[in-house]
Amino acid sequence: SLKRPWFQHYPDEVPASIDYENRTLQSYLHEAAEHYPDRSALHFMGKEMTYSELYESALKFANQLRSIGVEKGDRVAIMLANSPQSVISYYGVLLAGGVVVMTNPLYVEREIEHQLNDSGAKVMVCLDLVYPRVAKVKDHTSLEHLIVTGIKDYLPFPKNIIYPFIQKRQHGLQIDISYNKNLHPFVSFMEAGEVEEMAIDIDPKEDLALLQYTGGTTGPAKGVMLTHYNLVANTTQSVEWMHKLEKGEEVILAALPFFHVYGLTVVMNLGVMFMAKMVILPKFDPKDVLKAIEKQKVTLFPGAPTMYIGILNHPDVKRYDLSSVEACISGSAPLPFEVQTQFERVTGGHLVEGYGLTETSPVATANLLWGQRNPGSIGLPWPDTDVAILSTETRDLAETNEIGEIIVRGPQVMKGYWNRPEETQAVFKDEWFLTGDMGYMDEHGYFYIVDRKKDMIIASGFNVYPREIEEVLYEHEAVEEVCAIGVPDPYRGETVKAFVVLHEGKIVSEEELDSYCRKYLASYKVPKRFEFRDELPKTMVGKVLRRVLVDEEREKQQDS
Ligand code: AMP
Repeated sequence: SLKRPWFQHYPDEVPASIDYENRTLQSYLHEAAEHYPDRSALHFMGKEMTYSELYESALKFANQLRSIGVEKGDRVAIMLANSPQSVISYYGVLLAGGVVVMTNPLYVEREIEHQLNDSGAKVMVCLDLVYPRVAKVKDHTSLEHLIVTGIKDYLPFPKNIIYPFIQKRQHGLQIDISYNKNLHPFVSFMEAGEVEEMAIDIDPKEDLALLQYTGGTTGPAKGVMLTHYNLVANTTQSVEWMHKLEKGEEVILAALPFFHVYGLTVVMNLGVMFMAKMVILPKFDPKDVLKAIEKQKVTLFPGAPTMYIGILNHPDVKRYDLSSVEACISGSAPLPFEVQTQFERVTGGHLVEGYGLTETSPVATANLLWGQRNPGSIGLPWPDTDVAILSTETRDLAETNEIGEIIVRGPQVMKGYWNRPEETQAVFKDEWFLTGDMGYMDEHGYFYIVDRKKDMIIASGFNVYPREIEEVLYEHEAVEEVCAIGVPDPYRGETVKAFVVLHEGKIVSEEELDSYCRKYLASYKVPKRFEFRDELPKTMVGKVLRRVLVDEEREKQQDS
């Protein structure tokens, strides 16, 4: 039977169970605009936008989406770096009754095409910088409309503001928007919309808000179906967990990308539910973060270990006043103890580790922000969330301290994978979701991750699936066999290393394989190292023994 020893550690302020509101995500933006119309909702490159302005922009955008044919349940892809437009488009799509498909702007053509076709998105909002990539594939997809935007054309801000990195790379890029009727410039598109609320009947428990792509346990990227209820629940749980923070008072740093469910829930949805000011950074840069924390007096900074490491290693870290920081939750990869303690010393705030997956909206467990925390642990299950360990031997609940697969059930667990009933069935056992992560629970109810059942690599907080890299490399004419693994990296957590066996008589250099991979894979997936071998270790039936390579690498690192 299931033991729940974790509740004994909950502080009085955190409830074990919550009455989740049966509402849509967009209704929280409406509420924020009503209660705090003049409060600053967004801060971006020196300019601010209030909650009433944000709601108005999102409504205009929604009305325009309706006018080009977006109906309830239609998928709309958003491929943007963090910006006011990401927030406006996200809420605009939801207000129009649509389903948001967040798309990583680092994706190359092949990846964009897969995601658009798999989701069947009709409309896409994309950054001008990525437009050339989208343009190449758009005719092979179901896209009917493209809305293109750059920071420079965002109205509430001066027209001459451009992302520094866009300015560099955008040189010479011309998008002729005016001559093609299905290409819309973001601002004029949005501005033409009515500020009118529309009545769309949404059932928060059934209707999807988000299709969020992930490799999941294995295989190609799949769309995780998250309902309004899933996301409202996980955001409400976050609000309760951060019980010392106050509605209408907080300043949240939006350094995590909104195109990942972590930034989406724990920054954007949380920001709106908290009626907080979101300080938006288009990309992570330690110096920008330091400046933003000091100037904007950031109180809440959700992040990933690489971010906290980057900040601590910045030579100027001591020159900034970071004392406004109260709470930080680190997720997506293990948080080194040293980093936690150093970061807390530097800021005076609290930094704790949490855990989750796209399939759990994402947070399932975390350490207490103000209370007992166990370094090395991913903490305690969140309110209404059961976490347990499935014994790999008995396929039943494991004993305390026994290692097995981590399984989760709770209001934040996804509805399933989009159009993939078999894959969905494979990750559910009764109402439990099987995470594919291996771990154990100690006698106090704290959970620990020891390994991944799946072979996923986490490089700089991005998930990388070896199979995808291997598939690309297998297509290279010189490559006979390949196995990609994650190797420890002091800065990125892990990086990709590929072991390659070449066809007899073929010669190819590391540089050639590198530039070949860059054509077909986002840069964070491209192996940082290649090693040529005569053969790969294999099982009796010829399956490559990935584990052996991983262990060899680990030993090498320990010896050095
Ligand atoms: P994603 O679906 O992109 O959120 O990735 C989820 C995966 O990230 C999980 O299945 C874990 O393998 C990994 N992960 C998340 N949080 C942690 C953590 N605190 N420590 C170790 N791995 C983590």
